Amino acid sequence: MNCLSALERAEAISQIQKEEYDILIIGGGITGAGILLDATTRGLKALLVEKNDFASGTSSKSTKLIHGGLRYLKQLDLALVREVGRERAVLYRNAPHLVIPERMLLPLIVGGSFSKFMSRIGLAIYDIFASVKPGEKKKMLSKEETLALESGLNEEILLGGALYSEYRTDDSRLTLEVIKTACNLGGVAINYTAFTKFNYDNDQINGISAIDTMSDNSFQLKAKQVINAAGPWVDEIRENDGDLGVKKLHLTKGVHIVIPRNKLPIHQSIYFDAGDGRMIFTIPRGGATYIGTTDTNYSGDLNAVRVSKEDVNYLITAVKKMFPATDLSVEDIISSFAGIRPLIHQEGKAPGQISRRDEIFITDSRLLSIAGGKLTGYRKMAKKVTDMAMERLVNEFNYKHISCQTRFVVLQGGDISDIGAFKSDLEKSLSGMGISEDQAFYLTHTYGSQSLKILAELNGEDKEIALAIAEMNYTIRFESVHTLLDFFIRRTGRLFFDPLSIEKLLEPVAKKTASLLKWNEERIDKEIQSVKLALKEIVQFD
Ligand code: FAD
Repeated sequence: MNCLSALERAEAISQIQKEEYDILIIGGGITGAGILLDATTRGLKALLVEKNDFASGTSSKSTKLIHGGLRYLKQLDLALVREVGRERAVLYRNAPHLVIPERMLLPLIVGGSFSKFMSRIGLAIYDIFASVKPGEKKKMLSKEETLALESGLNEEILLGGALYSEYRTDDSRLTLEVIKTACNLGGVAINYTAFTKFNYDNDQINGISAIDTMSDNSFQLKAKQVINAAGPWVDEIRENDGDLGVKKLHLTKGVHIVIPRNKLPIHQSIYFDAGDGRMIFTIPRGGATYIGTTDTNYSGDLNAVRVSKEDVNYLITAVKKMFPATDLSVEDIISSFAGIRPLIHQEGKAPGQISRRDEIFITDSRLLSIAGGKLTGYRKMAKKVTDMAMERLVNEFNYKHISCQTRFVVLQGGDISDIGAFKSDLEKSLSGMGISEDQAFYLTHTYGSQSLKILAELNGEDKEIALAIAEMNYTIRFESVHTLLDFFIRRTGRLFFDPLSIEKLLEPVAKKTASLLKWNEERIDKEIQSVKLALKEIVQFD
């Protein structure tokens, strides 16, 4: 059974009801995905259920950086800088297609967060603790050198700059590839399946009730250990098991806006002072640049997080302070996205001061919940919580202890020894096929080696449409795509980063999907309308 084929979903749902799992994970963001992979590679029988699409929560709305932990350096948390630096190296080795080295420019300004002296010392420490490779180490720049790189920076406040090493990723694709890797090794993951309540035996959780949100069918799932990895929804799930106790989540909202690249002609990613003590990223991606993020307390609906006018104005004002010549305005925004940080509450601390460390909660009924943390540290978080689950399986169910195996597990699509050579070869093949060479970057960093499977299916006169259809065909069969939005947002990133391309692709892609998933006219229309609505919402600010 291929549980990630949308064509085999009914069979998969029927099968999981017959099994008893060692570990059942609630939540298909990066945290849940990491646990599924960790448990599966230890030989445990593991199931993950996600109420919406995989990565539809915070794990598709982040800044998409695999951090080296520069912000922890400011908090003098050297152990954390070392940990995330090491994790970054592991991830780069295991998923070279999804982890792209990115030189980040840090402009140093009058009254800014980083002084010249501090950044020189701080970045040198960062290079050591984050295990930065020799060719990627920090470089301090004079004012003139900084302006030579980015002439649009505010000369009046600029003192100089520093280049340091960060890595960029695509959070949804990372989540997807972790899930696919786990499922390829025997794990099971089902999207559009929501936890509804816990089931107990002698006051200990022995499974959950769940609902297939596509058919509205409810069913029971059995497991020795249930793990709650529901990100911002962690407390909502914990409440189902009783009182939350003293430790609670603190939710904060982070917004990004996306603009055409020519509206802010920068040449690399920049990490700059917003002017209020916070820092903002501007990161080019394809033909667009995304800018973020905000950090404000959030208590609204977790299932409908909106970008406000205030969020947008804050980001535009910050950009204008640093790039005074830009005439950037709200009308230039082509899309936006808002995510919720599931942080652990610390009394009296403002959003930006709350630790990003993760924490595990355990109850008498044996529910394990994990929250906090970062995308970057997902593998370590998974190890920590799976170690606890393993210990229980050993002590209470006589399992043989198996330690974490994920350090050397290559993610799907990452079996490429030289990513540069792979991209060049792809460029050559694409030009032979009549496809723009630009697509080589997109395909390499979206699907890695799996691009070849997609290109093998290419068929049709208009190559742009043919490619999108081949991608849809692939993602339906191997990545649990059930709706057009799954495809346009989380499998391809087009809705956020290339929304203008969707108009041409929408009808042909919908037609192909309808033929594979057997949609009737009413469903096709509903799906097309949902994409059109999403296209409006990404530029509508409350
Ligand atoms: P989520 O991704 O939200 O996943 C939880 C899942 O649980 C959701 O998909 C949800 O649908 C599901 N769920 C909820 N209820 C149920 C239910 N009843 N049944 C089944 N499933 C359920 N980290 C970095 O390392 N680098 C960055 O650059 C970075 N930037 C960030 C920028 C912003 C603005 C934000 C908000 C965060 C950023 N982070 C970054 C942090 C990182 O994105 C998060 O730590 C991470 O994505 C959280 O993943 P998660 O799996 O815990 O939560």
